[in-house]
Amino acid sequence: MNKLEIVFATNNANKLKEVQAMVPKHIKILSLKDINCLEDIPETADTLEGNAILKANHVTKNYGYNCFADDTGLEVTALNNAPGVYSARYAGIENNAENNMQKLLDNLSNKTDRSAQFRTAVCLNLNGNQTVFEGICKGEILTKKQGIAGFGYDPIFMPADYPISFAEMDMQTKGKISHRGLAIQKLVSYLNTLLA
Ligand code: IMP
Repeated sequence: MNKLEIVFATNNANKLKEVQAMVPKHIKILSLKDINCLEDIPETADTLEGNAILKANHVTKNYGYNCFADDTGLEVTALNNAPGVYSARYAGIENNAENNMQKLLDNLSNKTDRSAQFRTAVCLNLNGNQTVFEGICKGEILTKKQGIAGFGYDPIFMPADYPISFAEMDMQTKGKISHRGLAIQKLVSYLNTLLA
């Protein structure tokens, strides 16, 4: 099988680890640091797909690499799918995982429907072609934090058919069922058919 070197356009060390663990050895993942891309890449689109495309295009256009980029949103039914594309900045200026989770718990405190889904869009730029993959993980928002693994909203998200939160799950299990995991599995299958 042919080898491929490709950039994953993220500065999130957790995401990088999750994705590296899912990708076969003949696909070598480079980080933004590896290619000396140290600037903030604009994420100004109002859709997940739009942001994934912006990030992948930034790397391909300015650095000349084959690249994939992801963007994820947590879509909560009772909040009309908020925070969605604004998940990272949900708590406003003081946004960080703790404040974002607290705002979400506060906004859901009087709601009975706690169903939600994580949705990821992954944009792949490969040899002049662009393809977008999607992964969805359905579940619900817990009433309080559980677990310490992972990142972001993991402690308050319990995926369907599992009795534990993402933050109580090992990385391999999360990789098999998560939004990003499912989108990356589609990406890897696609790359494997091209490399075979
Ligand atoms: P990003 O733009 O794809 O990095 O993600 C947007 C927001 O969703 C960030 O606040 C992340 O913390 C959160 N997020 C993304 N993926 C996950 C995940 O797998 N678990 C929990 N939160 C996540």
